[in-house]
Amino acid sequence: MSPPPLSLRFVMSAARLGQLPERRAEVAFVGRSNVGKSSLINSLAGTKQLARVSNTPGRTQLLNLFDLVDRDHGDGDVAVVDLPGYGYAKVPGRVRREWPEMIEGYLLDRESLVQVFVLVDGAIGPTPLDVQMLDWLRECQVPHTVVATKQDKVKSSKRDARRRDLAAGCRLEQGDIVWTSTSSGAGIDLLRTLVRGHLA
Ligand code: GDP
Repeated sequence: MSPPPLSLRFVMSAARLGQLPERRAEVAFVGRSNVGKSSLINSLAGTKQLARVSNTPGRTQLLNLFDLVDRDHGDGDVAVVDLPGYGYAKVPGRVRREWPEMIEGYLLDRESLVQVFVLVDGAIGPTPLDVQMLDWLRECQVPHTVVATKQDKVKSSKRDARRRDLAAGCRLEQGDIVWTSTSSGAGIDLLRTLVRGHLA
């Protein structure tokens, strides 16, 4: 039986870690702009509503917190945080410089954070910024899982090679990577189960 969508409820956007309300447990999603993060969070939630929240101008550079509210979890218990996409060229230099600090502060100091899902574009493979992020997470021992997006954009004849190359580029084993597609729905059930497992 496939797992039901995650019932995510938007709570708030924050410019700094200190503004976020406390939660018991939390997972975060991070990735380069345009990697497909909003689409993926929408797919996990089975709605188109949430992306609109996170992609509203002004909110893209903020930490967006959603509560998981279901049979097992009430309001204010466990959460999913959508982190600002990195490497977005169109933001002013000042904002761009503040991003790493804000993201790093959150990733290092958020007590409730149990797992970070790092999105890598499956159609193009890890960029130098992605590799930098992964190296940093490893160095700081922040628990994380790589999620490859847009699997449907890789021709089936090239998928085996791409799986191998993407894993090697991330310095991981192929089995460590969760491949997803919001178009075909591949990997969405698995990711829902992983998120629920971390927030149980
Ligand atoms: P974000 O900036 O990381 O939030 O990325 P978006 O979710 O806005 O997606 C960026 C672009 O990639 C959009 O044009 C999406 O329609 C497209 N996209 C996202 N996920 C997929 C996918 O699984 N397959 C395909 N083919 N396109 C996708």
